[in-house]
Amino acid sequence: MLTTAEALDRVLAAMPELSVESVALRVADGRVLRQVIEAERDQPPFDRVMMDGIAISHADYANGMRQFPIQSTQMAGDTAAALTQGHCIEIMTGASLPAHADCIIPVERISVSDGIAILEDGYEAVAQQFIHPRASDHAAGSKLLAPGKLVSAMDIAVIASAGLAHVDVSRSPVVRVISTGNELVAAGQPIEAHQVRLSNGPAIQALLAQHGYPDCEHDHLLDERAALTARIAAHLDEADVVILTGGVSMGKADYVPEVLAELGVKAHFHGVSQRPGKPMWFGSGPDGQAVFALPGNPVSALVCCRHYVIPALARASGRTTATPEFAALAADVTFKPELTCFQPVRLISNAVGQVLAMPIKTNTSGDLTALSGSDGYVQLALEKSQFPSGTSVFLHRW
Ligand code: AMP
Ligand code: MG
Repeated sequence: MLTTAEALDRVLAAMPELSVESVALRVADGRVLRQVIEAERDQPPFDRVMMDGIAISHADYANGMRQFPIQSTQMAGDTAAALTQGHCIEIMTGASLPAHADCIIPVERISVSDGIAILEDGYEAVAQQFIHPRASDHAAGSKLLAPGKLVSAMDIAVIASAGLAHVDVSRSPVVRVISTGNELVAAGQPIEAHQVRLSNGPAIQALLAQHGYPDCEHDHLLDERAALTARIAAHLDEADVVILTGGVSMGKADYVPEVLAELGVKAHFHGVSQRPGKPMWFGSGPDGQAVFALPGNPVSALVCCRHYVIPALARASGRTTATPEFAALAADVTFKPELTCFQPVRLISNAVGQVLAMPIKTNTSGDLTALSGSDGYVQLALEKSQFPSGTSVFLHRW
C-alpha cells in the first residue's frame, strides 16, 4: 500500500493544468495569478509630497529666512509649479514636488498672515524632509508579482497600480461531488429510522468553496451499477474533477471502483496507509479528469478531501506549493503504528508565541460532530507510535 506522501505525489503528478483566462480586476481576488505583474511606472512616479504644508528651498532657510511669501497653491493632481527663490508654495499631500523646492514644512509648524507663511519659532528644517523620492519604492519595469500567487486584496492594489484593468488567472475548475449510498437522505427530506443523513456532499462543497473553488455541484446516487455508470459518465463529460464519497470499500454494494474502470477511468491507486481514509481510490478519466473516490465515513471523506483534493486543485490551478506548517502537540498521543494518523486538532497558542495542537477525540471515523471543534489535523508519522506532548508535527488547517 502507498504511503500518504507517495499517494499525494501520484495525485499531483496526474493533475491536468487548467487553462488561463483574463478577468476584470474586481473579480480577481482569490484567484491564482498566471502572469508576471511589472511596474508600469516608477513608484512614486514623481517626488511626492508627504505632508500638507509649504514647499520651500532649503537654501533660503539655511540663509536665515523664516518668513516666506506664498507664491501659489498646489493640490495633489496639479501640474508641478516652479518655485521662485525667496518664496514658498502652499502644497498638499500627494502633490508632485515643485521644481527648485527641496523641503516641506508641515502646516502645523507655520502660521499665515497677509499671504506670508511664518515658521514656528526655533523650528528646524532639514533638506529633503517629507519628500518621498521618485522610484524609491520601485523602478518602472520591476517585477512586482510572480505567477502562482493567490491574489489577495494587497495584490489587487499592486495590480491596479500597475495600470491593469484585467489580469490573467487560472480558469476555475469544474468540480462534481457525488455522494453514493442507498441509506442517505438529504437534509429537508423525511427520514426513516434505518436511514442516514447525507452530510458529505454539502460539507465537501463548503470546504472547496472556502479554498476558492465554488463551481461544485452535488449529486446523490444509489448503490446501483447501471445508475452509477450512467450518471458518473455524464459528470465526467462536464467536470475537470469528480469527487465521489462512499462505495469504495469491500462491501457487496461498493461498486465505485469497478464502475470507474468500466468508464475508462484508469486507477492510480486504491488504498493508502493512513487512518482515517485507508480505502481511498484515485484515478484519471479518459480526458485527464481527476477522479477521487473517498470513503463514505464523514471524517475520512473530509480529511481525504483536505489532504488530497485541495492540493490537487491548487496544483491544477498553477498555484505555488504551500510551505509546510508545523505545530507542537499539546498532549501525548499514542497511535498504533504502520499507518499514518491524521489526528484532528484544535489550535491554541502559548505565551512564547508557539502554535500548539490539542488533539480532539473522534470516537470513530463517522464521528463528525467532534470535527466541528477542530481547526485542522496533524499528521503523525507511520514509523512511530508514541508522540509525547511538545513533539513538532505537520499541521494541515481545514
Ligand atoms: P461507505 O464508504 O459507503 O461504506 O460508507 C461508510 C459510512 O459512511 C456509512 O455509515 C455511510 O452511511 C456513511 N456515509 C456514506 N456517505 C455519506 C454521506 N454522503 N454523508 C454522510 N454519511 C455518509
Ligand atoms: Mg456506501
